[in-house]
Amino acid sequence: MKIKSLTAVLAATLAAVFLLLAYVLLQIRLDGQLNASQSFFLQLAIDIVGATFFGILLVGSYIRQTIVAPVAELVKHTEQVAAGNYAARCDIRTHNELAALGNGFNDMSAAIEDDIKAREQAEQALLAAKNQLEALAHVDGLTNIPNRRFFDERLATEWRRARRAQLPLALLMIDIDFFKPYNDNNGHGAGDECLKKVAAALAQALVRPADLIARYGGEEFVALLPETHKEGLLQIAERLREAVAGLDLPHPHSRSASHVTISLGGATLVPPLEGEPATLLAAADAMLYRAKERGRNRVCVEEEG
Ligand code: GH3
Ligand code: MG
Ligand code: MG
Repeated sequence: MKIKSLTAVLAATLAAVFLLLAYVLLQIRLDGQLNASQSFFLQLAIDIVGATFFGILLVGSYIRQTIVAPVAELVKHTEQVAAGNYAARCDIRTHNELAALGNGFNDMSAAIEDDIKAREQAEQALLAAKNQLEALAHVDGLTNIPNRRFFDERLATEWRRARRAQLPLALLMIDIDFFKPYNDNNGHGAGDECLKKVAAALAQALVRPADLIARYGGEEFVALLPETHKEGLLQIAERLREAVAGLDLPHPHSRSASHVTISLGGATLVPPLEGEPATLLAAADAMLYRAKERGRNRVCVEEEG
């Protein structure tokens, strides 16, 4: 039983006894059956019961303020903490051990709250670093366009999508013409600058959000063009070739033009149920080889498969 209820039961019992005795005394007095000493002891009994009743009321009120209310506050606080509300604080205004206990609880809750906040911040920083790392892992460090790893992942995804929907998937292999003499005569730094400009021009020339341009390696790039038939592929390839030629980067050591040019080999196919993306890559690569053979600075595209 709670302290509060116990005090109430005790006070109520004493009040009942007090009233009963007072009633008995009144009756007896009215009847005139008591002598003086009997009357005195009965009156004394009533006074003792009355004094005890008020004493208990006083003690009960004191206990309520100094023990019952603080304990109830502690219980409420513990329940809130158990429910995960670490921002909750005990409000105990007594000056005894319970107040110290309440302050201890508050300090503990504050420490847990700080700890949780610090952990959440660390988790957020870790997530941001992970996202940044993932983004970096997909970008070519020199040209800032998607790298081969990203292209490989996208090729696999687009291959599956095109196979499911039975739609064409087109691919272009792109290679800078006579890049070795460009490097040899202008220096590696100038070669890097040229790669950056070519990459930016290629990326800008693509307009559809689904189209992707990536650095495949060295001075080679690759374009992945979902839902593109041969006619569209030829148009895009020509646009890319013109975009690089339009940069008008002087290249006196090229044998195909006086400026930097690219050769492009393309292929498009509806992925068969059995088959690998490597087929598409190989077909586009074969066409790039043909473009080189035929004099560079041109587009060669395979008959639609
Ligand atoms: P082709 O016309 O047949 O394509 O000949 P090419 O000279 O362009 O091709 P080759 O494969 O002989 O040479 C490619 C050159 O690209 C050689 C290499 O030094 C250069 N290269 C590859 N990666 C980089 C790079 O990141 N920066 C620079 N500056 N040069 C690179
Ligand atoms: Mg090459
Ligand atoms: Mg080359």
